[in-house]
Amino acid sequence: MALIIEARDGATDARAGRLRTAHGDVRTPAFVPLATKATVKGLLPTEVKALGYDMVLGNTFHLMLNPGAELIERFGGLHGFMDWDGPIITDSGGFQVFSMGHGTIADEIKSRPSRARHGERVAREGAILSIEEQGVRFRSYMDGSERFLSPEGSMAVQSSLRSDIALSFDECTPFHVDRDYTERSTERTHRWLERCLGWHAEHGPAGQLVYGIVQGGVYEDMRRASARVVAASGCDGVAIGGSLGAEKAQMYEVVGYAVAELGGERERLPRHLLGIGDVDDLIRGVELGIDTFDCAMPTRLGRHGTALVPDPHNRWRVDLTKSEWRTSEEPLMEGCSCHACTRGLSRAYLSYLARSGELTGMRLLTEHNLAFLARLMADLRQGIFDGRLPEVANSLRRAEYRPKPPIR
Ligand SMILES: [Zn+2]
Repeated sequence: MALIIEARDGATDARAGRLRTAHGDVRTPAFVPLATKATVKGLLPTEVKALGYDMVLGNTFHLMLNPGAELIERFGGLHGFMDWDGPIITDSGGFQVFSMGHGTIADEIKSRPSRARHGERVAREGAILSIEEQGVRFRSYMDGSERFLSPEGSMAVQSSLRSDIALSFDECTPFHVDRDYTERSTERTHRWLERCLGWHAEHGPAGQLVYGIVQGGVYEDMRRASARVVAASGCDGVAIGGSLGAEKAQMYEVVGYAVAELGGERERLPRHLLGIGDVDDLIRGVELGIDTFDCAMPTRLGRHGTALVPDPHNRWRVDLTKSEWRTSEEPLMEGCSCHACTRGLSRAYLSYLARSGELTGMRLLTEHNLAFLARLMADLRQGIFDGRLPEVANSLRRAEYRPKPPIR
């Protein structure tokens, strides 16, 4: 088994440990920054590592279209191509392919108010052409060419990328479909998992782990059944994906259904929660027994002028592009190890950089947001080891934060 559980919390399902991969261990629970297009946007690999991150996530869909898996393979895979020598997880491309066909599911399932607000561009110009048992036909957003992605094709790309953890190809079931569609889609995802594992057993690179993906929409019986099927498939880990509900309370319930089926002898299967990274969701996710998380949020927010701060009442966010920060002498936050905070850069300066679209501003806020989440996860992890996770989680949730009034 890839996961070594080193400590458990007595009051919740949280656990802390090490996820063993071909390129080293990931200390869990952990947040995984996105290196969607073979770069954590704005940061160097050495900087990401220095923030305390062990693993990054690359994107099969984007990388197969540009620059192409064959080219990356020539450099020894993603590790050599982007010069990251730690663990890498790659998603299967299913989420991006199906996002083209199912519209704005990402907003619905992740309880995000608006995708456009954060400037996300998931293959906007692309289009899904057909979903078949064999795979999915779609139009490339790069050049309009017709492309086909199948379970085997996705595994082949991830094999070329030489990731440490490959995700099986799944249909990311949208929120708005009915129970019947969800059931058929989930069953097909299970069949695709078998094909992924079959391909990988024969052709996959040695040492590459494969995670199956639990679907089943918001339906308890289907989520539980899907978790059992995936856990019994012979995969190395379990990722929870798809529609998790319209609001956070439901999301936690749905994640709980899946995790409930992953106890006992299945508990050493590592658990990844796909696309979730809000601060309160990370805290709750750790309590639910999730080991790793990935999300575009912290880096994307940073590029758009929003910083994470200990302010639960404002979703742990401050939008520095707002005029109230134009003249603020206040630093971003105390106790953060990032460059902007240790140098005490003023919110006025950071606000000015963000409003001007300066690269340095994007870099500084990306670094700050990742530093913030690295610290959060390290605190939660230590809380599990120290047997005081509830205390740590409660103090994070109650964080009091009162910015000084700006100078007018
Ligand atoms: Zn900072």
